[in-house]
Amino acid sequence: MARLAVLGAAESGVGTAILAQQKGYEVFISDMGNIKEKYKNLLDAHGLSWEEGRHSESEILNADEIVKSPGIPDTAPIVAEAYRRGIPVISEIEFAARYTHAKMLCITGSNGKTTTTSLIYHILKTAGFNVGLGGNIGKSLALQVAEGERDWYVIELSSFQLDNMYKFRADIAVLLNITPDHLDRYDFCMKNYVDSKLRILQNQRAEDTFIYWAGDAWIGKELPNHKVGSHVCAFSDTKEETLGSTAAYSENGKLVVNIPQHFEMPLDELSLPGRHNLRNCMAAAIATLSAGVSPEVLRQCLSDFPGVEHRLEKVCTAGGVTYINDSKATNVDACYCALESMTAPVVLIVGGKDKGNDYAPLHPLISRKCRAIVYLGADNSKLHHSFDDLGLPVADTNSMQACVEACVSLAHPGDVVLLSPCCASFDLFKNMEDRGEQFKTLAHQLPK
Ligand code: ADP
Repeated sequence: MARLAVLGAAESGVGTAILAQQKGYEVFISDMGNIKEKYKNLLDAHGLSWEEGRHSESEILNADEIVKSPGIPDTAPIVAEAYRRGIPVISEIEFAARYTHAKMLCITGSNGKTTTTSLIYHILKTAGFNVGLGGNIGKSLALQVAEGERDWYVIELSSFQLDNMYKFRADIAVLLNITPDHLDRYDFCMKNYVDSKLRILQNQRAEDTFIYWAGDAWIGKELPNHKVGSHVCAFSDTKEETLGSTAAYSENGKLVVNIPQHFEMPLDELSLPGRHNLRNCMAAAIATLSAGVSPEVLRQCLSDFPGVEHRLEKVCTAGGVTYINDSKATNVDACYCALESMTAPVVLIVGGKDKGNDYAPLHPLISRKCRAIVYLGADNSKLHHSFDDLGLPVADTNSMQACVEACVSLAHPGDVVLLSPCCASFDLFKNMEDRGEQFKTLAHQLPK
């Protein structure tokens, strides 16, 4: 009997363990931290062996294959040892895909994955497709495969997942953009991170589709160095930017798609705000039309999609000031896009756990759009160094309570308070959701 070890006992790991057991593997699942009660119960209900608080080499390194949670770096001692011994280490998606004939519509990029994945899922579901949602979002793909067959899966793929994918093939692949992120996991080498993202192309065939943003500098630079076996569709901010094979662009206040069929829609009918979301909509339009969705359903869904929590989410208006929660903006580019889409003066909240950020690209935009900056982090020294010279009023805070109080005192009626922090949240918060929730709770408590 083949033996599979699973590292990380959360959504993806537990789903993998259940699918593997169903497919006849002897399975062992191990988590260095504490396993959540609901996952322990699920593992016990399936009679699966597990451990928490350690990785026992004797139980793991005798496996024929290891499935690793994307959160565990290659440098973790147990993973490094597995590589040293030549044990294949794969991701949940690679494993689950072996057991389904469903078509795979996959989305990757540095920013916009969850928004675009959710939008595409919304469109396919509304169009009546038998479709599941998986990857970095929602329920484990492996568990869904264990529970029944779908015709399609819409899968959000992070670079960490792609790193451990080898034979997986996307029928439709979307690459939204590549900007610096997670460089701490890529030896601080941008090229390594770009190569990881471009793995979404591997194994694609002539009948498959690859959709990418033509305006992205890194994709433009590195794509020619990679073998592309599929039908390539680029989308672009304007028609002029990429002539020829551009599948989608905006022109005269409309979103225009030419490939795989003609589609037009006024920009002011799109439900998602901002230029970055227009790009997400173009990607979703090409992908779903390619999957066979009708233009009518696409039009309806692009206008009624409600957006995703913690992404440019309007919270409330208090004292004439609008509060916007963009807690998911954990890198500089996401904050750039958020600021770009603002039409009123902004009190910007930045800070948290810095991932090696270069804040310089934000400077001109901040000077143009911001009334003040509020730093929110356990250690704000890099923020002072990066932004104080812009000459705007700044406030230094290290709790959400203090942060919101500072925003109230700095904002004028008609302004926007924008939480778009450029950084991870783990210095002061459990995660980015906790950061966003705390912001929303306090904003809702402000006198209207
Ligand atoms: P991801 O899943 O890739 O992190 P999200 O959809 O969760 O992406 O959005 C993350 C952040 O990036 C949010 O702050 C959002 O406003 C911003 N964003 C969304 N789409 C894009 C895009 N196409 N380009 C740049 N930033 C974007």
